[in-house]
Amino acid sequence: MCSSCDICNRDAENVEAISSGIAPVTYGICEECAEKGAENIGVVEFWLASFGGPENAPDFRAKLTSYFDGEYKEWQQISDRYNRNEKQILASLNEEFELQDDVSGKIE
Ligand SMILES: [Zn+2]
Repeated sequence: MCSSCDICNRDAENVEAISSGIAPVTYGICEECAEKGAENIGVVEFWLASFGGPENAPDFRAKLTSYFDGEYKEWQQISDRYNRNEKQILASLNEEFELQDDVSGKIE
């Protein structure tokens, strides 16, 4: 049975469950991504945003590998992509936070 990998979105025969190294999520991950220790780019962006941007993220960032635009990317490219998309990333995070506020608050 084939499933698609949560990191590279490619179909793989063997997808195993692996915990993210940076967030409390579990991926279904293909052998190649597992070997490279790749993280989902959306999770990486969220992680970076939570520190206020790539420059403020812990030194562990230098070891990050992700997959987007059809290939594996290392820290420099991840950081460039974050800086390019920062506005959209922060906007989408704000939307999520607002949604949570609407659910938890305003009991009258
Ligand atoms: Zn993969």
